[in-house]
Amino acid sequence: MQANRSRDTKPEIAVRRLLHAHGLRYRVDARPLPDLRRRADIVFTRLKIAVFIDGCFWHGCPEHGTATPKSHSDYWQEKIARNRERDAETNRALVDAGWVVLRYWEHEGAQEVAEAIEATVKSTRDG
Ligand SMILES: [Zn+2]
Repeated sequence: MQANRSRDTKPEIAVRRLLHAHGLRYRVDARPLPDLRRRADIVFTRLKIAVFIDGCFWHGCPEHGTATPKSHSDYWQEKIARNRERDAETNRALVDAGWVVLRYWEHEGAQEVAEAIEATVKSTRDG
């Protein structure tokens, strides 16, 4: 199951369902840039919007990310630090290529996240 941990998490499904209900169409778990070996959770290819819904633990959420298992503290902290560095790299690569990057935490409400994504999509599309 480890390999699937970034895909089809519950908050992500809830967000996708709301977006879909609002008539938005997107790609799921896709590479925004063919040459960049990174996947985004939700991708609006034509509008160049990449959405990431980051797991609190794996990406070091300030509210929940510090609750690392004590026995493997160093191991986890190193791993989480690497994930965060990787996230920052991904952001830079996408922004350099003219993309808009939206990142949310899995603990954020699906409704609020979906509304924020929709607002960005609309302003990009209509603006
Ligand atoms: Zn969190």
